[in-house]
This record gives sequence, structure tokens and C-alpha cells, in this order.
Amino acid sequence: MTALDLLDLDPSLTDEERQIRDVVRHLVDDRVRPHVADWYEEGRVPARELAREFGKLGLLGMHLTGYGCAGASAVAYGLACQELEAGDSGLRSLVSVQGSLAMYAIWRYGSEEQKQRWLPSMATGEAIGCFGLTEPDHGSDPASMATRARRDGDDWLLNGGKMWITNAPVADVAVIWARADEGVRGFAVPMDTPGVTTREIRRKMSLRASVTGEIVLDDVRLPADAQLPGAAGLKAPLSCLTEARYGIVWGSLGAARDCLETTLAYATTRTQFGRPIAGFQLTQAKLADMAVELVKGQLLALHLGRLADAGRLRPDQVSVGKLNNVREALAIARQCRTILGANGVSGEYPVMRHANNLESVLTYEGTSEIHQLVVGQRLTGLSAFA
Ligand SMILES: Cc1cc2nc3c(=O)[nH]c(=O)nc-3n(C[C@H](O)[C@H](O)[C@H](O)COP(=O)(O)OP(=O)(O)OC[C@H]3O[C@@H](n4cnc5c(N)ncnc54)[C@H](O)[C@@H]3O)c2cc1C
Repeated sequence: MTALDLLDLDPSLTDEERQIRDVVRHLVDDRVRPHVADWYEEGRVPARELAREFGKLGLLGMHLTGYGCAGASAVAYGLACQELEAGDSGLRSLVSVQGSLAMYAIWRYGSEEQKQRWLPSMATGEAIGCFGLTEPDHGSDPASMATRARRDGDDWLLNGGKMWITNAPVADVAVIWARADEGVRGFAVPMDTPGVTTREIRRKMSLRASVTGEIVLDDVRLPADAQLPGAAGLKAPLSCLTEARYGIVWGSLGAARDCLETTLAYATTRTQFGRPIAGFQLTQAKLADMAVELVKGQLLALHLGRLADAGRLRPDQVSVGKLNNVREALAIARQCRTILGANGVSGEYPVMRHANNLESVLTYEGTSEIHQLVVGQRLTGLSAFA
């Protein structure tokens, strides 16, 4: 492994885990790195094409079993997320939303018919899914959602709107969460259903290599069997978020590692005052502190992954991981930027792109403040959410 593996974590992985990591790393090197700066600058990404390529490698819903899914371990899935996000957080988002949010919701809460209809084509990337929980007026507090599901004979009628939905403008199916008389319910909504419209959110300064959109639901009529029969209450979408947050625990470190690798290479070759800037004590202090945080984050991710594989991972432990690793990854990206000087703000280097992306990662799937509240509640037994 690289110089950044300060604690020799590599031998803690199984051969299969290392193989999966290396395959994804090669895919990112071949397919993502040569183009991602352009995608980012243009604010466009070939999402469908990439989804098919990711699907071919078994990366979509890779930790799920059956229906064409790879059935990989949580650690293997985490390692894949780390490699994808070393390419760009937007690509890891594509895979996370597809596998951990949309597919997981159908896999865990859907009927057999819904699973057969959607999961095999989502696993190959032929069909793209999205996950609509956030609304324009309800983000951190989804319990207050305004989107309504009303029964009309045997059908359901959905009305409302979802905002900041990854993949929405390119999706074939949306898992939409709405409030019915009996509480929050989930629906698998084909995006070509009359009354469903999407609008792409432009001018994002972060996650520009990811498609994000708004979904408007105007008297959307759905048959009874569009409802996910196993999902009752807000705990259903929250369980999906726990899945996706777990991927972020690993993924964010991929962005940090890419920043640090770039910066190490830069600092050892860039000379000022007649010597490489890596030779200055102040630079080494930065590099050492960042490498220590990176490897601490990797240990944390690996520990959580092993807990997940043993079926013992709790949501508040995932909050510990997301809170720490995204916060540290962002701090690493910003610090790396300083070492690159003016080149740190250039798109010729990946550092500022990663830093900007991590601003979104800090906010989505529960903001860092929300994860502090989750951990605070675990510590004190007191809810400080409202
Ligand atoms: C690029 C991108 C992609 C996204 N993709 C998806 C997606 O696919 N599906 C989806 O459903 N959503 C998605 N989101 C939405 C994301 O999950 C929300 O932005 C996030 O939950 C925060 O909600 P908000 O933006 O409404 O902020 P708010 O909830 O308005 O929060 C604003 C600030 O107030 C703080 N705050 C809120 N409540 C409290 C409290 N009780 N105590 C202390 N501080 C508090 C927050 O921490 C934050 O700092 C995406 C967002 C982005 C940026």
C-alpha cells in the first residue's frame, strides 16, 4: 500500500476485500479520473453510462442479496465507496443513492412483485432510482413533511414536492416518502407517471458531477401496489439513511486520501527557498496531522464495517462515523489546499473539488449538527432535537 497506510491496515482486509477495492480503484483511474474535472466544471455527468458501468462491476446494491445484487460484505462495500469517492463524491453519491437508498428501500420494505420489477434492472444500472425525503421546507426535520398520500378508491393520490433529490432528473423510479392518514408511507413511483415532474437544480458549487433535482407531485395517481408494504412510519426512511451514511463513513475518507496523496506528491516536488516545501517543518506538521486523522478515520470505518458484518452496528454508531470522518475529511481537504498554494484553487488539481464536494457531504444524510444531537442523546438519554 501507499505511504499513507501508517498503521499497516492493509493486512486487516481479506483477500476478497482487497480485490474488490483494487478493481474499483482501477475503474476510477480508467473511467473517472481522466474526465471528472471536465464533468465538474461543466456541471454535467454521464450518469446513465456510468450507472451501467458500475452495474457491470456489481457496485449497485452490492451489499444486498438476491435480485442480481452482489451480496458483498459491509467492509467490501465501504472500500468500494472509498475508492469511488477518491474519484469524486458525486460518483459515490450516484452509487449510494442507487444502492443504499432506493434499492435498499425496495429490497427491505417492498413486495416480492416490486422487488422483481425494480431490483434486477437497478442492479445492472439499466434503471436509475432516487430517494425523495427532503422537501423545500423540511430537511433535518422530515417528520414535518408536507407531501401527502391520500387513498382514492383502491388507488393512492400523491401531492407535494421533494427538493435536493440526487439522480431525480435522470431517474426511472423514485422512492417517495409521504404522510398518509396512518402515518409516513413509502411509494415506488415510476418517474413517467402523469403528474410527476422534475427540474434540475443548477448553479450548485458543490457535487457538480452529480445530478440533483426537485420533484413535483401533482395529483399523482398510483395503484395500491405502488406502496411499499413493509414501510410504516419514519423509521423506514431513517433505516435507509443509516445504510447510506455508512457508505459515507468510508467514502469521505476516499476524498481525503486523494487530497493527501496529491498534496504529498506536490509538496515533495515543489521547491521554494531552494528546497522542497515538504521539507519545511510547518508543512510536515500539517502532513503528519492529516495522515494521522486519515488513518484514525479508516480504523473507525473498518471497526464499524466489522460491526455491520456481525449484524451489530447501531445507527448512533454510524452517526459517530459520519460526524467524525466527514468533518476530518473536509478539514484535510482545506488544509491540503493551503499546501498547494495558488494551484490549490485550480481545477487542474482535485483538492478544491473534493473540498467543495465535502461541503454537501457534511450537510446531506443528516447534517453534522444532527449527528451531534444523535450522539448527544446516546450519551445523555435526553433528546435535544426540538
Ligand atoms: C447535493 C445534495 C444532494 C442531496 N440529495 C438528497 C437526496 O437524494 N434525497 C433527499 O431526501 N435529500 C437529499 N439532500 C438533502 C439533504 O439531506 C438536506 O439538505 C439535509 O437533510 C439538511 O436539510 P436542509 O438543507 O433543509 O437544512 P435545514 O434542516 O434547514 O438545516 C439548516 C441548518 O440548521 C441546522 N439544524 C436544523 N435542525 C437543527 C436542530 N434541531 N438543532 C441544531 N441545528 C439544527 C442544520 O444542522 C443546518 O446547519 C441532498 C442535499 C444536497 C446538498
